[in-house]
Amino acid sequence: MLRTHTCGELRITDVGKKVTLCGWLQKSRDIGSIGFIDLRDRYGITQLAFDETKNPETFEKARIYGRECVLRATGVVDERSSKNPKMDTGDIEIRVEELEILNESKTPPFTIEENTDGGDELRMKYRYLDLRRESVRKKIELRHQVTKHTRTYLDAQSFIEIETPVLIKSTPEGARDFVVPSRLNEGEWYALPQSPQTFKQLLMVSGMDKYYQIVKCFRDEDLRADRQPEFTQIDCEMSFVEQDDILNMFEGLTKFVFKNIHGIELSDFPRMSYQEAMNTYGSDKPDTRFEMKFVYLDEVARGKGFGLFDSSESIIAINVKGGAEFTRKQLDELTDFVKQPQIGAGGLIYCRYNSDGTLKSSVDKFFSEENLRQWAQTCNSAPGDLILVLCGKKSSTQKQMNELRLKLGRQPGLIRSGEYKALWVVDFPLLEFDDESGRWHAMHHPFTSPKPEDISELRSSPGKVRANAYDLVINGVEVGGGSIRIHDKKVQKEMFSLLGFTDEQAQAQFGFLMDAFEYGAPPHGGIAFGLDRLCSLLGETDSIRDFIAFPKNNAGRDVMIDAPSPLSKEQLEELGLK
Ligand code: ASP
Repeated sequence: MLRTHTCGELRITDVGKKVTLCGWLQKSRDIGSIGFIDLRDRYGITQLAFDETKNPETFEKARIYGRECVLRATGVVDERSSKNPKMDTGDIEIRVEELEILNESKTPPFTIEENTDGGDELRMKYRYLDLRRESVRKKIELRHQVTKHTRTYLDAQSFIEIETPVLIKSTPEGARDFVVPSRLNEGEWYALPQSPQTFKQLLMVSGMDKYYQIVKCFRDEDLRADRQPEFTQIDCEMSFVEQDDILNMFEGLTKFVFKNIHGIELSDFPRMSYQEAMNTYGSDKPDTRFEMKFVYLDEVARGKGFGLFDSSESIIAINVKGGAEFTRKQLDELTDFVKQPQIGAGGLIYCRYNSDGTLKSSVDKFFSEENLRQWAQTCNSAPGDLILVLCGKKSSTQKQMNELRLKLGRQPGLIRSGEYKALWVVDFPLLEFDDESGRWHAMHHPFTSPKPEDISELRSSPGKVRANAYDLVINGVEVGGGSIRIHDKKVQKEMFSLLGFTDEQAQAQFGFLMDAFEYGAPPHGGIAFGLDRLCSLLGETDSIRDFIAFPKNNAGRDVMIDAPSPLSKEQLEELGLK
């Protein structure tokens, strides 16, 4: 190699060694007749020192090179007179004897430093430079660690990694497909996989027993902040399993990854039904790091002459510990928050449980202090607390209250940094009715098995049937989801018919899967984790983009390579697209 050591590894014990380092010039400065360069590579930064009196030629050279030049320096490791305890190599420096420039660099468009002066777009355009920054690089390294530990765990559990094709056929999994025209079969199209769902099921029919793949998936969804059109799943499937086996196996994987990345022992993941999650948190991915569970005031607040409550399907409250101190302004802000069109509440009602024991609400006209005391009892409130109330249609009030609860959860002090709360949400509804298309849709996907005890209701009340489906939720983030699959051709056919497919359509789209089920398909099930999300959770940032080496921006563009881009006339003709 061109170097004997990296820029991150020399220590006081190496003093006296003659070494050669390679790296990028982070910054340089002179102090009298001594020049210094901080030389950086992936492993760290080492200080190079140039002595004008001993080696005037090298000293001169060192002064002319600018930031980000690629250098190779040879010299002797020396103890520093003023040490830098913040740097791993801060006890030493290299007394440089020879300095060679391996490549020059233009002045970078932004500084390669922690507090860079580059904005988002600029850093994306020069992502290869952004990746030189320590904090960005560390996120990519974290991702590597997550996949490494994932592979170690799954390998130890006898899973094998199998690649599935990327040019496939459209599968309806909720999102739109990205499609690729076939030159050799004019007028026909491949689709990029939204997930390897059908292939992993076929691998179970093949007897592969335990499959996994760290795999790119593609979904052509509408733009939303921090959504990537291509993303990575840790995709898994197992044969001869029931729901519990999958939950235990992948709870194990999650714990293994957290232990190895952060040294954290996660406690056992509670299991919560979808219904309970909706009733208690108004969300199927509840953040259970803080309380403020929903309390239903239907019994105690209805029938007191307050028309709004009396005409509402649900009256939902949350108790904010210590919230009686909230100022009028804070309460107004919360009211404005819930009234935004995206949230859609009509207003916010509050009741202060003052520290002197008195109760004061925004609807005092209708509720006596005694009435309010009943609210407080139902909410388990103590003096000093604040009760916030929303009312209306049950499902929309739950959603609104979820938003309010999450907003309050973001207040300082409620969530400890570095805290992780995981749970399984289970028993999702199998189907949801889509008003727009006037049809039932599979909530997870059409291969998900109904709960055996609910199958008899498939025709009579499809909305009541629960699925053998589960999500892994950590800190309010859906990290993974999966299900026990249908492995019986008849049930699968029935499912397609419920979803509005004719027999012919089902056969044309999924004949290959149903045919496979006729050759001894084992009972099977699986799960997929969103790797980018899991990494951002472990890295304690909201943005999944940071954990992708070359991400797309919010408009789905790669501004570095400038994609998507038009094709030439010739290319279009060749593809039969003209
Ligand atoms: N294929 C599913 C998904 O992408 C996961 C699964 O059911 O295993 O969400």
